[in-house]
Amino acid sequence: MIMAWRRLTLRSRLTAAFALVFGAMLLAYALAVYLLIRDRFAAELDHRLDQELEIAERSIARDAGGRLAWRRVHGPEHEEDQRGEGQRLRNVSWLDVWRADGTLALRRQDAATDSGETPVLPLDTAWTGLRSLELPGEVHLRLLQRRVSLEGEMLLMRAALREDDFARGLVVVLWVMAGGLPLALLAAAAGAYWLAGRGLAPIHRMAEEAEAIHAGRLDARLPVANPFDEPGRLAVAFNALLARLEAAFGELGRFTADASHELRTPLTVIRSVGEVGLREPHSEAEYRNIIGTMLEEVDRLTLLTTMLLELTRAEGRRTATKRESIDLRELIRDAAGFLGVLAEEGRVRIDLDLPDAPVPVSGDWTMLRQAVINLLDNAIKHSPPDAVVAIACRTHAGLAEITVADQGPGIPAEHLPHVFDRFYRVDAARGRQDGDRRGGFGLGLAIARWAVEAHGGRIAAESNPGQGSVFRIALPRERTLSHPEGTTP
Ligand code: ADP
Repeated sequence: MIMAWRRLTLRSRLTAAFALVFGAMLLAYALAVYLLIRDRFAAELDHRLDQELEIAERSIARDAGGRLAWRRVHGPEHEEDQRGEGQRLRNVSWLDVWRADGTLALRRQDAATDSGETPVLPLDTAWTGLRSLELPGEVHLRLLQRRVSLEGEMLLMRAALREDDFARGLVVVLWVMAGGLPLALLAAAAGAYWLAGRGLAPIHRMAEEAEAIHAGRLDARLPVANPFDEPGRLAVAFNALLARLEAAFGELGRFTADASHELRTPLTVIRSVGEVGLREPHSEAEYRNIIGTMLEEVDRLTLLTTMLLELTRAEGRRTATKRESIDLRELIRDAAGFLGVLAEEGRVRIDLDLPDAPVPVSGDWTMLRQAVINLLDNAIKHSPPDAVVAIACRTHAGLAEITVADQGPGIPAEHLPHVFDRFYRVDAARGRQDGDRRGGFGLGLAIARWAVEAHGGRIAAESNPGQGSVFRIALPRERTLSHPEGTTP
C-alpha cells in the first residue's frame, strides 16, 4: 500500500490528498447541514401542532344543549371560515377531544389519511406532551396531547400530523447531497490535478535540463523563471551547487596541473644529470657529485609528495576533527625549538614574547604546530644574517593571536593577496635558489591557512617591502580554560 502510494507521481499524490481532505470536509459540512435541516423541520412540525391545538381549543364551545361543538364564526373577514372553525384545521391529520371519563367528546370529521381511511389512534390518557408514533400501514405520526379545562370541565385534546411530508423533504435533501457531493468532489479533484500539473511543470523542465548536464558541461545553468517561488528557489540552489562544483572541478584541474608541473622539474633534473653521468667516464668524485645531486632532487620529490599528500588530505576534511586543549605558549616554544638549528645556520635570532598565563585553544596540536612552523620557516628563510624573527602571542576579545614578524625583504603589495594560494611563489627563481632546503613549492602558506581555518581561525599577512613581513594567526579561545588554574574567580 505504502509502496504503491510512493510510486505515484507527486501530482497524483497531491490530487489524491487534496480530494481526500476536501471530501472529508464536504462530508462533514453536508452532515451538519442535513442535521440542521432535520432539526428545523422537526421544530417546525411541533410548532405547527402546537398552533393547531391552540386554534382548536379556541374553536370549542357548548351548544344550546350543553354539548361540546365546533364554534361557528361569522363576519366578512372570516369569509372562508363559513363552514366552521374546524375547517381551518385542515392541516392536521387528526384532532379529537376526550372527556375525563374516557368518552369521545368531539372529533374532526375529515381527520383521515390520504387514502381516506381514518387511522386508529389508541387513547392513552396517562401522559401529555409530544411524541412520535408509528401506526400499522407505515403511517408515521407526530402526536401532541394536552389537558385543557373548558368551563370547569377537564378535557384531553389530541392533535396529530403526518411526518411523511417532512420525511419526504429530508429525502430530497439527501438525494441532492448524494448527487452533488461526488460531482463537487470530482470537479475539485480535476481542478487540483490541473493546478498541481501547472505548479510542478517547472520541476519537470528542470529535471530534463539537469539530465543533460554532465562533468564536461558544468558551466551550464538552469533557467530561473521566478526566483521567489519554490521551483525558482530550487533552480537557484541547484545553480549555486553547479557553480561550486564548477569551481571545485576547476581548482582540482589546476591543482593537478600545478602538481604535475612541480613533480616534473626534479624528475627532469635527475634524468639530465643521469644522462650526463652516463655519456662519458668520470672520476669517483664526479660520480659522487652526480649521485649527490640526484639524491637531493629525490629529497625534493619526497618532500613535495609529502606536502601534496598533506594538502590533499586537508581538502578531504575541512574542519579539525581532533579537539585537544592546547596552550599556545607551549606550541610556539616547541616550533621555535624545532627550527632552532635552521635559525642558527642562517644566523637568525628567534625572539619569543609570550604572556605569563596560558593561552588555551582547543584543536589539533600537529596541525597548528605545522602552521606555526611554516610561518617561522618562511621568516627564517627570508631573513638576512643577524636579523631577528619575533614571535609573539597574546589574547584579546575572545581571540588568541600569534604574530610572526621578520626583517626580511617583505612581500610586494601585488603578491600579498595571493601568497596563501597553492603553488603561489612571489619569485619562483628566488625559491629555486633556496633550493636544497624545504619549501620553494609555494605550498607552505597554503597548508598553514588550511590548518588555521580548519580551527575556525583567520590568517593574514602584512608587509612593507624592505621592512619585513608580519604574519598573523587569530584563533578562537577555548572558553573552558579561560581561567588559569589557581585563579578561580
Ligand atoms: P614556499 O614553500 O615556496 O615558501 P609559501 O607558501 O610558504 O611557499 O610562500 C609563498 C610565497 O610567499 C613564497 O614565494 C615566498 O616568497 C613568499 N613569502 C612567504 N613568507 C615570506 C616572508 N616572511 N618574507 C618574504 N616573502 C615571503
